[in-house]
Amino acid sequence: MRIGVDLGGTKIEVIALANDGQELFRHRIATPRDDYQQTLQAISGLVRLAEDKTGQQGSVGVGIPGTLSPFTGLVKNANSTWLNGQQLDKDLSVMLAREVRLANDANCLAVSEATDGAGAGKATVFAVIIGTGCGAGVAINGQAHAGGNGISGEWGHNPLPWMDADELRFRAEVPCYCGKQGCIETFISGTGFANDYARLSGNVLKGHEIMLLAEKQDETAKLAIQRYEMRLAKSLAHVINIFDPDVIVLGGGMSNVERLYQRVPQQVKPWVFGGECETPIRKAVHGDSSGVRGAAWLWPPV
Ligand SMILES: [Zn+2]
Repeated sequence: MRIGVDLGGTKIEVIALANDGQELFRHRIATPRDDYQQTLQAISGLVRLAEDKTGQQGSVGVGIPGTLSPFTGLVKNANSTWLNGQQLDKDLSVMLAREVRLANDANCLAVSEATDGAGAGKATVFAVIIGTGCGAGVAINGQAHAGGNGISGEWGHNPLPWMDADELRFRAEVPCYCGKQGCIETFISGTGFANDYARLSGNVLKGHEIMLLAEKQDETAKLAIQRYEMRLAKSLAHVINIFDPDVIVLGGGMSNVERLYQRVPQQVKPWVFGGECETPIRKAVHGDSSGVRGAAWLWPPV
């Protein structure tokens, strides 16, 4: 049995998967925010609960909103900031008396979708979480690819490529939390979509509210989603020119916008060197469960 834990900023979810991938148990609790010791207790408590309920022992993988530094072994880049600087994998290994594997949550999405989702059978998967922020992860032959610095997939903090005049203005108006300007995340996250609509209309709405307006043929909402699609296309062309993955999988709130899958694959082509591009862009099959499933799949079959 494999146990996966998705450690998010607001909730911690556990899943237990049988060796054939069948779900045996699932449970979620609120994250004890700003308290590292209680976070450790919560994760180990969920693992023990999964084992009690199934009557089996399992391997443990944990997806986190950050990464482990390969140099210090400590968590870095977590927006759940109380995790940063901690040796989370080691501390959990001691509490649970077994080796615990940790990976970035977007890498877990990539592993989940490469295993039995939208990227099944594909050797290279680039998976993007476009929600409040924008993270991405890489799976190669079904394994999470963390990279030599532990930041593989963090293209959301590269600048938006081929900016037009208005995007250059956006760049100056909407700085990224990382300290730089013009990051892809500031444009293609759900937050970025809502910010752009607010710039166009003067109204502050949530992403799904803007999409409802677009469906009712509201011109400003339609313009906002058209601009969003072009920015996503340019951003993904950037990835294709460097890595040329076999499939791109989208997760997170914006991945529910169905028109992206009709329009963006065509809009990517002119930005890819040579103009040829048939890279499939697909919605994550396991939706919100991809992170926790991918955490379980960090361990090979037993
Ligand atoms: Zn940034």
